[in-house]
Amino acid sequence: EVEEREEFDVAVVGGGPAGSTAAALIAKRGHRVVLLERERFPRYQIGESLLPATVHGVCRLLDVSDEIEAAGFQVKRGGSFRWGTSPDPWNFLFALSPQLSGPTSYAYQVDRMTFDDILLKNAARHGVDVREEATALEALRGPDRVTGVRYTGPDGAAREISARHVLDASGGAGRLSRAVGGERTYSEFFRNLAVFGYFEGGGRLPGPDRGNILCAAFDQGWLWYIPLSDTLTSVGAVLHRDQAARIQADREGALRDAIDRCEIVRDFLSGATRVTEGTYGEIRVRKDYSYANSRFWTPGMALIGDAACFIDPVFSTGVHLATYAGLLAARSVNGVLSGDLDEARAFGEFEARYRREYAVFYEFLSAFYDMDQQEDSYFWQARKVTGSENLTSMEAFTTLVGGAFSGERALVDASAVAERFSTSSADLADAVARTGPAQTRSGERMNNLFGAPVVSEVMQEMNSIQRRGVTGPGTGEAPLIEGGLVPSADGLSWSEPDA
Ligand code: FAD
Repeated sequence: EVEEREEFDVAVVGGGPAGSTAAALIAKRGHRVVLLERERFPRYQIGESLLPATVHGVCRLLDVSDEIEAAGFQVKRGGSFRWGTSPDPWNFLFALSPQLSGPTSYAYQVDRMTFDDILLKNAARHGVDVREEATALEALRGPDRVTGVRYTGPDGAAREISARHVLDASGGAGRLSRAVGGERTYSEFFRNLAVFGYFEGGGRLPGPDRGNILCAAFDQGWLWYIPLSDTLTSVGAVLHRDQAARIQADREGALRDAIDRCEIVRDFLSGATRVTEGTYGEIRVRKDYSYANSRFWTPGMALIGDAACFIDPVFSTGVHLATYAGLLAARSVNGVLSGDLDEARAFGEFEARYRREYAVFYEFLSAFYDMDQQEDSYFWQARKVTGSENLTSMEAFTTLVGGAFSGERALVDASAVAERFSTSSADLADAVARTGPAQTRSGERMNNLFGAPVVSEVMQEMNSIQRRGVTGPGTGEAPLIEGGLVPSADGLSWSEPDA
């Protein structure tokens, strides 16, 4: 039985990166926001390897950069890959991307308990009414829109909240997303499954690559190897979905077997011990995580983060897409609540930009899987893409994997934007060549990677947007979507573009 009904401007469901980002950016505009989170934080979550766009773009808008920096997370300068036919690992560094070069050409490997807790507490500090151990049960509906949410608090009593906007940021497992209508479509391509655990005392890559994520392909899939501190490492195997039964029956054996099949990770872990106690002591399995909803919003409600879509663990795009969606949704909500924008126009912009970022990464990640040429492997043969020809460059690659692809100034540090104009592609080719023979080969392979014409097309568009962004008047950004809106001067809402 319902005891009370409170009123808010906005109700956000879920306190992960998507929810905390949206809630804080709406509260910054002075609106009344409640955030319902089922767990008590800090809580465990996978998704530890971040991109610079989150760390230097979104975290800056959230006023939380100093705190993130002070948390002492492992600095990540890029990624190292034992991928494709070459036995040598090769690196990409965020610094190779003109959009990301400069003092902000790094991200972090984070313990998500700490990272998500910092973002949630930051939302509370911005005035969000954060309620933990509060589980949303369903969206409330009026005749033509979602009007709020029903939830239970720690005492188990059901309560209702009326809100002009509900944002579902409850991750992949929730059912609330159904309230927007449409359906969830699972990817035919990324039918993967992950089994993962934690190790103490694993080896490290040399020198500045020490904090890189290492992704290593082997005959049955690939492993991630993420240094979370000097001694703690997150290790996960991404395998074919068809092996679910075998893996569920013996998680530890399945992870061990994957490690034993992958020379570089096996060697790194030869002197390490698996953590068997506490939060990191469990071996976890995740599957059915590659999907997108056919609708991202309905009047009164929008989906952000994993509630809307997720692609695949390779390339660490999850938290980027989640925080980017949080930013886009906040702009749309703020635009509507201030009376400046009609809901359909504001959320049309949200969905168009969000889908575009998702789609480009989807194509890119597919192409990346396609790079591995293990002819006799069931896993790799199932991940062949057709039509990967004329492609872009290393430059495009590092920009994309750095999460600065959208070309949004909000996601790229201002100094990096200025600096990119001094980096010519010749400098870039130089930088690639300087990193050694293995890197050069990978550079060549990269030239073949961007098969989808959409990638190079949109990269060009991004460049012109960025150029106007630095030199142009007003907010400096042209609409990303034809006929669309541009970010407002404070970055927290949308405006009509200058005529
Ligand atoms: P979440 O982080 O899942 O947060 C959702 C929150 O909602 C949770 O706190 C939950 O308790 C709460 N909640 C759920 N239901 C309710 C309810 N009914 N009421 C109230 N609260 C509720 N991403 C990366 O960036 N880098 C990586 O290296 C990476 N590796 C990955 C590896 C694997 C195997 C997988 C599966 C994913 C990986 N990801 C990675 C993706 C990343 O985990 C997610 O994209 C990211 O956590 C999404 O954030 P979110 O805020 O949308 O959701």
